Amino acid sequence: MNSKRLPCSGDKLELLASEFGTPFHIYDEAAIRSNARKLLKAFSWAPRFKEYYAVKALPNPYILEILAEEGCGADCSSLAELMLAKAVGLAGSDVCLTSNDTPLVEFQTALEMNSIINLDDITHIDYLLSKARLPELVSFRYNPGPLRKGGNEIIGYPEQAKYGMTGTQLLEAIAICRDLGVERFGIHTMIVSNELQADYFRDTAVMMFDMATKIKKIMGISVEFINLGGGIGIPYTQEEAPVDLLGLGNKIRLAYEEIMLPAGLGNVALCMESGRMMTGPYGWLVSRAIHRKEIYKNYIGLDASMADLMRPALYGAYHHITVVGKEDLPKDHIYDITGSLCENNDKFAIDRELPKVDVGDLLVIHDTGAHGHAMGFNYNGKLRSKELLLKTDGSVKLIRRAETIDDYFATLDYPGLV
Ligand SMILES: *Cc1c(COP(=O)(O)O)cnc(C)c1O
Repeated sequence: MNSKRLPCSGDKLELLASEFGTPFHIYDEAAIRSNARKLLKAFSWAPRFKEYYAVKALPNPYILEILAEEGCGADCSSLAELMLAKAVGLAGSDVCLTSNDTPLVEFQTALEMNSIINLDDITHIDYLLSKARLPELVSFRYNPGPLRKGGNEIIGYPEQAKYGMTGTQLLEAIAICRDLGVERFGIHTMIVSNELQADYFRDTAVMMFDMATKIKKIMGISVEFINLGGGIGIPYTQEEAPVDLLGLGNKIRLAYEEIMLPAGLGNVALCMESGRMMTGPYGWLVSRAIHRKEIYKNYIGLDASMADLMRPALYGAYHHITVVGKEDLPKDHIYDITGSLCENNDKFAIDRELPKVDVGDLLVIHDTGAHGHAMGFNYNGKLRSKELLLKTDGSVKLIRRAETIDDYFATLDYPGLV
């Protein structure tokens, strides 16, 4: 059970709505900082623990800057994300490139930045050798396939997922690189997303600790780090509970002590690439009801659309909704909450119980701080909203303006549109 709080009072949200205009995403700096500290504390026992924030979750440099100040690095999987990391002063081992089907320019940029590269496939060794060079430290992404039960609807079962290499390939890849003179290695995995069971991550850690032990035993190589990937879930519904980070850190510590220490691997660093859990709960999409219609069902139309938040349309994902100023009224009405796309999936909620909603009400959609604004698209010519940052001193800063119609037409050269 968790309460769905607003970033600030309803009155302040109304003021922000009139000052900046709706819709907007707003992010809570203080909450992002305190959560990042919690994660780092939970793993402070681990040698050189590093959280590489998965930039794709909220690719805004002002947010990256906050996380970098807290000691986090950046996990990138595109050129744009590498450039964002660089812009906020991250480079070298504070950045990792974990991509797949990787275009050459991404490898080249990561090499220039001296960043850690997690190779997604064994063929990437030859690809790098023929088109660029191997980095000094080579890391490989492991896909356990059917050896690992579980998976979920976002990534899919490991054996169905396109990411990573098999265990046999991973061992072979290390041998090939060793023969080429590489002396520093890392291993990586990421097989689940939005998982709330701490035991799942403990089991993943055990799997990777076993892999490191195997590499040591077979090849006499101690990997430098183990990257446990991202995937820690957040409670989108009020019934779910957040992952207890301290508890999770402890479970993984016990496994580390049990497997790594006896294998003489007690100095292997641990890292993670959490995205969702770092910013997800600390973002809200604030939107105004502009239409109300009653046909076979009752609809509330917002000034936001799936251009601003795709998850409900894409995954049928639940996002909690609060009607500002009506928090204490009975939820005695049932609505579909929609955007304006000519696409019937453009709904933030279906059959949602809410208090009576009137045109002009502010509706707040919770937990939009990860894979929210970032996922938006321009289908139907709809434009993405602005992003605001609620700073620790209570002031609010515009950290990305809304898209304009000129942005939308910027790639066209046609009379009357420019
Ligand atoms: C998306 C992604 C992450 C972050 O996943 P979350 O579920 O947001 O924690 C980490 N690593 C890679 C390679 C990813 O693609």
